[in-house]
Amino acid sequence: MTETHDTVILGSGCAGLTAAIYTARAGLKPLVLEGHEPGGQLSITTMVENFPGWPDGIQGPDLIENMKKQAERFGATFQHALLNKVELGTRPIKLITSTGEIHTRTLIVASGASARWLGLPSEQALIGHGVSSCATCDGCFFRGQDIAVVGGGDSAMEEALFLTRFASKVTLLHRREHFRASKIMLDRAMAHPNIELRTNTTVEEVLGVEEKEVKGVKIKDVKTGVESDLAIKGLFLGIGHEPNTKMLAGQMDLDEDGYIKTSSNVLTTHNGQVIPGVYACGDVQDRRYRQAITAAGSGCMAALEAEKFLDEHGH
Ligand code: NAP
Repeated sequence: MTETHDTVILGSGCAGLTAAIYTARAGLKPLVLEGHEPGGQLSITTMVENFPGWPDGIQGPDLIENMKKQAERFGATFQHALLNKVELGTRPIKLITSTGEIHTRTLIVASGASARWLGLPSEQALIGHGVSSCATCDGCFFRGQDIAVVGGGDSAMEEALFLTRFASKVTLLHRREHFRASKIMLDRAMAHPNIELRTNTTVEEVLGVEEKEVKGVKIKDVKTGVESDLAIKGLFLGIGHEPNTKMLAGQMDLDEDGYIKTSSNVLTTHNGQVIPGVYACGDVQDRRYRQAITAAGSGCMAALEAEKFLDEHGH
């Protein structure tokens, strides 16, 4: 017989770990499935200066490690497993993972959203060394520097505008002639004296791998095919996020971009009906705030709902 857990948490970012702390402290012995990005987006950030309680800031990976230790202290267990399939309609809920089948009475989905990257090896090598996907997290490290933002949507405009608070110049690189961004955001970016927009421009390479810090980017004008180097100290990707919800499609209500549509903060639904015992928290259901502290807050809410559900069902 497969053991039935009280609570399984999908994802080990800020939301999942907060849910783990709360459910563990309530004696529910949560099992956390760490997924393909253990620690979530904070684990690839450097200094976090806006998480309350750390007056001097804390490194993202340290914050995650502390949360994990805190959850383990109360009895949470962690497993490296990738979820292949989930059956939300059965009781107990069934999860088919890379390491076997797991049964649970409640499920907290905290699988997050992954930033899209260009996929260049040089870009990947310099993440945390000048390449970032989070202007709010890393912008202030580029005071007085020239930097670039990639993308042509609202995220890229928002990042570019935000980064003008620190950078001396922001070059926005977009691969097409036309922008996906809303007119108001595009107008603001175009009107800003410290933002230069370059269209029909792709990033071919990030320079500085050997020096372990971004020195510039090799860019290409896609109309003329001409390549050139742009000297910058920071490269921000604003090409969107993808919520990690593929395994839930068809069993849970998702919005047009795949984010979980929650009601009453963390309740999940299928065809508009609440799915009992299944909750969602963090970036997988939040396309607006996307902050560590908001993810943690919703992780707490999901945990309290799971606890209440189990209590009401006599567990
Ligand atoms: P988005 O609208 O999908 O835009 C992504 C941009 O990145 C597009 O311009 C796309 O280029 C570009 N891109 C994608 N993959 C790329 C690649 N591999 N190489 C180069 N460029 C690439 O995503 P988003 O900007 O994150 O916005 C998502 C949603 O959130 C939108 O509905 C947006 O309105 C909303 N949002 C709103 C605000 C706000 O109102 N303050 C802020 C942020 C986001 P192409 O155009 O060529 O496809």
